[in-house]
Amino acid sequence: MLEKMPLIVSCTGSECAYNRNLTCNAMAVTIGADREAVCDTFYRTERKVAHPDAVSFVGACKMEGCRFNRNLECTAYSGVSLVGDHGRVRCHTYAEAVGGAAVG
Ligand code: SF4
Ligand code: SF4
Repeated sequence: MLEKMPLIVSCTGSECAYNRNLTCNAMAVTIGADREAVCDTFYRTERKVAHPDAVSFVGACKMEGCRFNRNLECTAYSGVSLVGDHGRVRCHTYAEAVGGAAVG
């Protein structure tokens, strides 16, 4: 199952509880808060989760307009990068679908 889930290769959302050394330590995240390509799992807090060896994946994504989105899941199997952006954390791998077509 996990080999079918895109790896989160980096995340600069350092304010997030799951972020350690610019990597994500949640087991899986959801993208698409408020219908924007931002991390819905983002949780701003001083406390950091303690899973230094954790590997994180995109578990679900609500961005139907992204070319990598298929059935509300991500098919960017080469990996997904997220970037902190004015208090939110945006999926940098998002790419608008051409003619509504998903890849993968
Ligand atoms: S913002 Fe999202 S991708 Fe980044 S560390 Fe937090 S939960 Fe992970
Ligand atoms: S690349 Fe597209 S489908 Fe994958 S998580 Fe980002 S916005 Fe969602």
